[in-house]
Amino acid sequence: MTRAVVSLGSNVEPERNLPTALARLHRQPGIVVVDQSRCYRSAAVGGGPEFLNAAVLIETRLGPAQVRTLLRGIESGMGRVRTADRNAPRPIDLDLILYEGFVGEIDGTMIPDTDIGRYAHLAVPAADVAPNWEYPSPGSLLKTIAGPFRNHIEVFMSSDISPGPGRYAPEQGMEATADEIHDPEFEATVRSMLLQLGEDPSREGLMRTPLRVAKAMDFLTSGYTGSLEEIVNNAIFESDMDEMVLVKDVEFYSLCEHHMLPFFGKAHVGYLPNRKIIGLSKIPRIIDLYARRLQVQERLTSQIADAVDQVLEPHGVAVVMEGSHFCMMMRGVQKQGTSMVTSAMRGGFRTNPLTRSEFMELIRD
Ligand code: ZN
Repeated sequence: MTRAVVSLGSNVEPERNLPTALARLHRQPGIVVVDQSRCYRSAAVGGGPEFLNAAVLIETRLGPAQVRTLLRGIESGMGRVRTADRNAPRPIDLDLILYEGFVGEIDGTMIPDTDIGRYAHLAVPAADVAPNWEYPSPGSLLKTIAGPFRNHIEVFMSSDISPGPGRYAPEQGMEATADEIHDPEFEATVRSMLLQLGEDPSREGLMRTPLRVAKAMDFLTSGYTGSLEEIVNNAIFESDMDEMVLVKDVEFYSLCEHHMLPFFGKAHVGYLPNRKIIGLSKIPRIIDLYARRLQVQERLTSQIADAVDQVLEPHGVAVVMEGSHFCMMMRGVQKQGTSMVTSAMRGGFRTNPLTRSEFMELIRD
């Protein structure tokens, strides 16, 4: 994973657009938002409405050009039109300003961005998330560059827009506080869904429902932004053991991609070690990484098997999942309590019927 810094700025409805851009960054497959800066207020370079600025530290396996393309995609999705006027007011500005190990030009912009040394609105937020980044050359640190600029930029004192690191972290749960804004655009979508359902989104019981739904959906799809490397990090151990390792009856909760309704049940994961074993608590986390997405149970089962195969290179992997699907249960297609069973076998579990039946025997108990 490579670290990079993305700067965010907006001077058209910034209180709405900055959190929306942040939320979209958090949902972006291929990048993990590790940290985010405080939010700052600054004058527009060419005059015009004031800007709100922030920066995020990300980790990614994408190259700098791919990250830039992805940022342009978020921008145009949020109504940003790039014109010849570099100082025109904009709903959102997302720039890749630092990318570990990369010095060069992409689409006419230098990375590292040479403006970091010129403008407080770039230097200060970047120094919040990457104080010890060597910019522009080894030995000179971002926090040193940003130091003198701190007098020229004001921290924007609004908890609504300056969420601080981890605001969108799933472990923060789905509780909703009175005037919290999480993802204004998504919340507006939920509000219009409520209208379509003939409901009154302003009645008391529904007032904070869009906020809760936005947070719940963030949580239920948080697998998109997690990474396998992060989960298994430091949890793989050398071992001579060659007996089957089995983790069974792991609860999982997922959303079917056809109806976006829950399916849930139990997963059983076995593997035949090949010198490497993994901390047992990591298997449920690998399951969550793939379950917390829009899924079909068959693909979920294979993805878990492939992930274990990838990180442990074992002699074999077996995954069996038993799931109950709301979309079937509620329509009466499937009797309540009847579950769907899927399996994925790799290596020895596929080639050796005895090993496979031993596994099936063990999970039945
Ligand atoms: Zn379904």
